[in-house]
Amino acid sequence: MAEVLVYVDHVDGAVRKPTLELLTLARRIGDPVAVALGAGAANTAATLAEHGAVKVLTDEAAEYADYLVVPKVDALQAAVEAVSAAGSLAAVLVPSSAEAKEIAARLALRIGSGVITDAVDVEADDKGPVATQSVFAASYSTKTRVSKGTPVITVKPNSAPVEAAPAAGTVEALSVTFSAQATGTKVTGRTPRESTGRPELTEAAIVVSGGRGVNGSENFSIIEALADSLGAAVGASRAAVDAGWYPHTNQVGQTGKSVSPQLYIANGISGAIQHRAGMQTSKTIVAVNKDAEAPIFDLVDYGVVGDLFEVVPQLTEEIKTR
Ligand code: FAD
Repeated sequence: MAEVLVYVDHVDGAVRKPTLELLTLARRIGDPVAVALGAGAANTAATLAEHGAVKVLTDEAAEYADYLVVPKVDALQAAVEAVSAAGSLAAVLVPSSAEAKEIAARLALRIGSGVITDAVDVEADDKGPVATQSVFAASYSTKTRVSKGTPVITVKPNSAPVEAAPAAGTVEALSVTFSAQATGTKVTGRTPRESTGRPELTEAAIVVSGGRGVNGSENFSIIEALADSLGAAVGASRAAVDAGWYPHTNQVGQTGKSVSPQLYIANGISGAIQHRAGMQTSKTIVAVNKDAEAPIFDLVDYGVVGDLFEVVPQLTEEIKTR
């Protein structure tokens, strides 16, 4: 069976959920071989093996933390060459984070293939891997394949379930020779963002968003209270962000972040096409809006016509009792 390389997103050895989702997709098209880089990489092996990695290639060189993406591209290229030399490589799967997308594009260029970004599904037919993308503000679903070389595919978080699938997970050191460009840009410092304790917006299983209807930054506390009762991330429409009520990092939509959670709750959001572009692939969509004619109701699974200042606190209290 062909092998599938999976780039591991981890923090000091703790594997992030989108990587476990990649393993689910990788198992559909071949045997997953995980590539974990940087401090703590070897500690990822047990978790990766529990989710189907037949092998984990690791390298803990300091270069991965000290420099930007090129050392990671060098490492993935080395992994592609090692796996291809030993057998056949079906695809390289990478999570759709900003950094990983840059790595994917550079890798595809290096190995003379093509990159498909922001896939929401990956499967294989007799001609090889096929990725599904959601395009034009999620108005269309397209099936795409790379016509030359080993496809490099970035996959949006929450596109596949996390599945336990015990595998060997043997650990091997990856031998990497860094290129001349690897040390071109040095990281001189890191300032961690103040943590809200909430999940990362693009990875959250539940997102609770507020729009112009929230009517002020102080009122976002009721959106946050609902989010916290559900363990959700908080999103915002551009109208709310432009008004200065919530940070741009939380904007959902065409010029914000694209989310695909299991549950998206839109409060006081009309459902403009540019907002839909960032949330339409959510599995279940709920809206609270006082205007029964609001376009958001065209795409919801459940809609509440009502004043969010009445509905949202009641919903929060009800959830807290469960
Ligand atoms: P509105 O459209 O004003 O809707 C507010 C809604 O709240 C209304 O439906 C109203 O009925 C409801 N409401 C009011 N009070 C209450 C209440 N008390 N209880 C319940 N409901 C209430 N938008 C984005 O969101 N993300 C983007 O990334 C984005 N990118 C854009 C890019 C471009 C190039 C352009 C041109 C626009 C972009 N926009 C984006 C803006 C987009 O077109 C809309 O203007 C924006 O999404 C509207 O935000 P909203 O739904 O919060 O506000």
